[in-house]
Amino acid sequence: MGTSGLVIVTGGAGFIGSHLVERLLAEGHRVAVVDDLSTGTLDNLRSVRNDPRLTVETATVSGSRRLAGWMRHARGVFHLAAAVGVELVVRSPIHVCRANLRETEVVLELASRRRVPVLLTSTSEVYGRSARPEFAEEDDLLIGPPTHPRWTYACSKLMDEFLAMAYAQERGLPVVVTRVFNTVGPRQTGRYGMVLPRFIDAARRGVPLRVYGTGRQRRCFCWVLDTVEALVRLFRCPEAYGQVFNVGSTEETTILGLARLVIRLLGSSSKIERVPYAEAYGPGFEDMQRRRPRVTKLARYTGFRPRTPLKEIILRTAGAVPDAGAAEHGTGPR
Ligand code: UDP
Repeated sequence: MGTSGLVIVTGGAGFIGSHLVERLLAEGHRVAVVDDLSTGTLDNLRSVRNDPRLTVETATVSGSRRLAGWMRHARGVFHLAAAVGVELVVRSPIHVCRANLRETEVVLELASRRRVPVLLTSTSEVYGRSARPEFAEEDDLLIGPPTHPRWTYACSKLMDEFLAMAYAQERGLPVVVTRVFNTVGPRQTGRYGMVLPRFIDAARRGVPLRVYGTGRQRRCFCWVLDTVEALVRLFRCPEAYGQVFNVGSTEETTILGLARLVIRLLGSSSKIERVPYAEAYGPGFEDMQRRRPRVTKLARYTGFRPRTPLKEIILRTAGAVPDAGAAEHGTGPR
């Protein structure tokens, strides 16, 4: 991917997608977005709406009339469109399965006809009940059974990974798989379960922050522009193709600790309320108690590892300090 030419972003009106689109336009690319606006919004693209180099088609990937044409002269595809969010997954597993399998297959099939490089975004959920959740390494997977709908998402995305690698093997498609861990920042919606926008919203309104389970479960939250930086670097790294990479922060927090930090940083009077998992997600829900990526492979291939501190991430997401790019904190040694 040079610094011009057409780049396709599926899911470009979504949270991470819209930040990626801004970045690609800023670098001088023409960008074509296909997004069905099921979870994304055109408002996410308002800062670039009038840029003549941006084209947006409101459609699913499989229903797109333009994707095949764009592929003819595209430099690459970032495939971000997917059904995501724990609450959506638990509520609509058929939709999640169908959308994630069908749409990815369409992207891979069209791209393979022209050998257009594809970056597939997958998810940390594929690690499932991994035996080493504190240091998820690229080969360490253990997904739960199909009798639990919460694993639908993980399984559908893992199948996408297999499909991507199958296209790489059988059709010579250049494809890189990225497993994106918890990513946060402006424009993320709390509607489908994501915790940080919900906590910020509750803290602002002075209502209780609802912490699920014990609150001792841990996550690492990555600044969205760090995630975008990692995706762009992997896309441009020829040695990364045919491989799988974790993308995420390694700074851990408990969810209770996150709630306390949000309250403190926003000077809020909100209290914390504990909510049983069954009440939050329905009976039998299994939460990951710990999820932390190993990102040495990412750093080795791209010279980059996300490093924006959680405190700053919260302040920037809440709009308390201006947004800043990834380079400031993110660049690590090669
Ligand atoms: N969570 C919470 N309150 C909420 C939403 C989520 O306590 O309003 C918890 C959730 O149970 C999980 C963590 O916060 O342990 C992160 O949830 P999120 O949906 O953001 O991402 P996940 O890591 O589950 O994909």
